[in-house]
Amino acid sequence: MSHVRRVYAHPLLRGTIIPALLLLCSPPFTVLTIVTCQAFGGDLLAALAALFKSPASLWAVFPSPSWWAVGVLGGYAAAQYALLKLLPGRKFVAQLTAMGNRPTYVLNGVAAYVINLAVVFSAGYTGLLQPGVVYDRYGEILATVNIIACILVVVLYVKCRMAPQNTDSAVTGNLVWDLYWGTELHPEFAGVSLKQYVNCRLGMMAWADVVLCFSFAQAERHGGLSNGMAVSTAIQLLYIYKFFVWEAGYFNSIDITHDKFGFLICWGCLCWVPSVYTLPSMYMASRPMDLSVVAAASVLALGVASVAANYDADGQRQRVRATNGKTTVWGKPPVLVHAKYTTGDGKQHNNLLLASGWWGRARHVNYLSELMLALAWSLPGGFEHVTPYVYVVFLTVLLVDRAERDDLRCRAKYGAYWTDYCARVPYSIVPYVY
Ligand code: NDP
Repeated sequence: MSHVRRVYAHPLLRGTIIPALLLLCSPPFTVLTIVTCQAFGGDLLAALAALFKSPASLWAVFPSPSWWAVGVLGGYAAAQYALLKLLPGRKFVAQLTAMGNRPTYVLNGVAAYVINLAVVFSAGYTGLLQPGVVYDRYGEILATVNIIACILVVVLYVKCRMAPQNTDSAVTGNLVWDLYWGTELHPEFAGVSLKQYVNCRLGMMAWADVVLCFSFAQAERHGGLSNGMAVSTAIQLLYIYKFFVWEAGYFNSIDITHDKFGFLICWGCLCWVPSVYTLPSMYMASRPMDLSVVAAASVLALGVASVAANYDADGQRQRVRATNGKTTVWGKPPVLVHAKYTTGDGKQHNNLLLASGWWGRARHVNYLSELMLALAWSLPGGFEHVTPYVYVVFLTVLLVDRAERDDLRCRAKYGAYWTDYCARVPYSIVPYVY
């Protein structure tokens, strides 16, 4: 539990009570998203009210796992594994872990993404497959993937106890925390990094494929695609494309370099992403809404500008480190903090902290564009129900907490150098506000 004590002021609450609640409540909530859209007219508050007033009636419409869904998920997982293993791609050597290990990845995400979209789009367009079936049977799929993901989380825990991957693997002794947070940083299986496979090739890829299927579902059922759905889908697919273009950057992000691979990341990518992240599209699949041309163009512009800002911000920081500061940021030499830190093996290393450009505005300025993006693809859902905005609310909580966690981690890692950076850049996420 030393990690929990280091990171959180209330280790019992943040290290046991909240994780236990999340372990118990999050899986049924993911299935409730599709139940809301299919049985409660998209009204999440009505579905939650039924949970308290008449649980039996809610249970009656709750989907069950099925062998059909196991087959679909197995086929999907096998196809993504084959793409990851077989497509050519540059080897990427990531930064050192806290214990001095250095994982490697294959960069072939863009090709895999293009193939995925081409297959789903052409199969749907030609009528070879009916992607709308995914919407109809999504409850079964979510119920099934939840069971598989929870089993995987337990297997990962047992694996760490019996055959830890390397010196970054560790069991804390608090079972709830170990299941929730995970025990291994970079587990591998069948020659692939499980984090790359699950986070990128299953979670992120499924997000894209699912919103495309939901668009087909709307078009099939309502005789065409509403411009609201078209705009929302376009922004999400552009964002996920950006993710794969920037995949190497993701391998230096907190999910990969710091968070262990347990319920939070593994189950989160397998179940939370394909349910809560896709919720605006799930909601719109059965509730088409056409926006005025000005509204559609404005939302699209907000989405495209936010993707560009997010990509540029992440790119600035990456470029500065890759060139050892010998580059320009917004046309000027970068302002840098030359930080030093020590890894678990006692060796000292240097790192650059960028304090100009986007990173001179706020220490987590990339989160602001991320929030604007989420808002952009949710707005076409309109304002009748809160359902399309669940992701925006969740993301706000997640990113505020994450910014706080990251500040604490960086302070522990860089000490006075981080204090120096914070003095130069006092805002956390929103320049001049927060
Ligand atoms: P970041 O990619 O922002 O990574 C934070 C790390 O970057 C720090 O721990 C530190 O790591 C390094 N760093 C911090 N400040 C600086 C600086 N000034 N100069 C150089 N390096 C710095 O965080 P995330 O992993 O949270 O985000 C990655 C991406 O994923 C972002 O684009 C974010 O918006 C997105 N995201 C999306 C989420 C979603 O669910 N949609 C959730 C979370 C993130 P070190 O120095 O140790 O290398």
